[in-house]
Amino acid sequence: MNGDGSKGDGSSLISIVAPAYNEEGGLTQFALRVDAVMRSSASAYEIVFINDGSTDETLSVMRSLRATNPNITIVNLSRNFGKETAMTAGIAHAIGDAIVIIDTDLQDPPELIPEMIDGWRAGYDVVYAQRTGRAGETWMKKTTARLFYWTVKHMGPVPIPENTGDFRLMSRRAARALLQIPERHRFMKGLYAWIGYPQKAIAYRREARFTGRSKWNYWQLWNLAIEGITSFTIVPLKLATYLGFLIALTAFAYGLFMIFKVIVFGEVVRGFPTLLSVVLLLGGVQLIVLGFIGEYLGRIFDETKQRPLYLLESVSWSAAAEERTKAPSSNDVRTPKVVGQR
Ligand code: UDP
Ligand code: MG
Repeated sequence: MNGDGSKGDGSSLISIVAPAYNEEGGLTQFALRVDAVMRSSASAYEIVFINDGSTDETLSVMRSLRATNPNITIVNLSRNFGKETAMTAGIAHAIGDAIVIIDTDLQDPPELIPEMIDGWRAGYDVVYAQRTGRAGETWMKKTTARLFYWTVKHMGPVPIPENTGDFRLMSRRAARALLQIPERHRFMKGLYAWIGYPQKAIAYRREARFTGRSKWNYWQLWNLAIEGITSFTIVPLKLATYLGFLIALTAFAYGLFMIFKVIVFGEVVRGFPTLLSVVLLLGGVQLIVLGFIGEYLGRIFDETKQRPLYLLESVSWSAAAEERTKAPSSNDVRTPKVVGQR
């Protein structure tokens, strides 16, 4: 079992954590669909919206939604911190017994949530949605995604399930584990896998965006891939060692061969082009390896600064969260000791 008390009964609360960055066009539709789904599954719920420093009307749309639906918490960040951090902020402010992370652009169908809840009730700590199709995505994005999963699978210590995003349900225990991870560089896909606990996949078709467009460009995706690799494996650092050995050995053998040639055949030393290309090759290899080291060094630098993960501009709590502070309880989740809030 997943170690949470209140679930077989009907009293459990589901928190739906929804990060939004410039999503003014789809939020109302999103809230409507979530509400319809949660009503029909007869589960008590709250939506935890995170306004990740949007520059459009996202915040005021959230506020007007909250005016008619008391089940909404709004976590308003001080600026744009990126989705990974926004999700962490949302989880930290969610008070539910289970927490669902979902995109607000309606690419993740809320209709899947009841199935996730069933999985959770059956004892799984994490129920993640695994996409079967990537509608509306380019060939290029599909290929690069496949390449990324392959690399991480062969380099990392924990396998990351393929074609899985952030859309998932987590038990309170799994969410607590996630909040205990103090890393500034939060590669969430890896962290979900790292925490372990019983996990289950459910298949779904990822839809095209409702409105607007993806905030990810290829440069950001590339950086995310580097993030994924560097935060979970030091294989690139080891690569330098082995590459060094290989080149040194080859050079040594080649040296012996040259001496042999000079002694036996009395050949004069030739090969300025060879010399140049070897020097350039080695220079290049050394710079690449320095770059590897730099990637890790930069991350150490970021982690040692110990900055808070995010800053809050304001928080408006849902009715359920307000309720919970009024009734003093031994496990008040509203003031958790979490990263980013010190
Ligand atoms: N998002 C966010 N902060 C950001 C970028 C994105 O909170 O800096 C949210 C965005 O509003 C959406 C989700 O993260 O709800 C996924 O973003 P997007 O659709 O751009 O990514 P994709 O679906 O292409 O992976
Ligand atoms: Mg999207």
